[in-house]
Amino acid sequence: AVPVGVLALQGDFREHLAVLASLGADARPIRRESELAEVRGLVIPGGESSVMDKLSRAFGLADPLKDAIRSGMPVYGTCAGLIMLADRILDGIPGQQSLGGLDVAVRRNAFGSQLDSFETDLDIPELGEPAMHAVFIRAPIVEETGPAATALATVADGRVVAVEQGNLLGTSFHPEITGDTRFHEYFLRKVRARE
Ligand code: GLN
Repeated sequence: AVPVGVLALQGDFREHLAVLASLGADARPIRRESELAEVRGLVIPGGESSVMDKLSRAFGLADPLKDAIRSGMPVYGTCAGLIMLADRILDGIPGQQSLGGLDVAVRRNAFGSQLDSFETDLDIPELGEPAMHAVFIRAPIVEETGPAATALATVADGRVVAVEQGNLLGTSFHPEITGDTRFHEYFLRKVRARE
């Protein structure tokens, strides 16, 4: 089985580990540089991006993560993980940094307090039928998609909530909690294609 990691500093990493294991991957929690060096792909989970940022720097993982992203390792970020992968963060806390890699500007908590959490169905051509039921929890949106990145999905008003750029994938929502494994399979195909 292909070894893949889930960044396990904070957030809903257990849900991602369970989905990846159910798809036949050797899924491992990643908390140290030595663990990162042993996997062929990485998921950055949902949680709180400002905390994940601080912890990744405090644990000495931020630079190895940036190197892994730059080296072309497949990385899939959900929600806070998407924020970690964005080159530009809007409405970050003071001093908040990202790892970067995705040529996008992402706004945190973009759906406002009236709409903290909601669910909707998304048509995602790359994943085929049926539409994906998507759960948003204090979710970010992709406010600007630069030329290197491609939008994969939008909500009804046209705002972008899923993007891809080479080996990087990001979604504003949480497929790890709905039982629809198509994004994780898409990520694992990228991982296996590089073997
Ligand atoms: N609002 C969180 C953040 O800014 C993301 C929420 C989530 O991951 N569900 O990091």
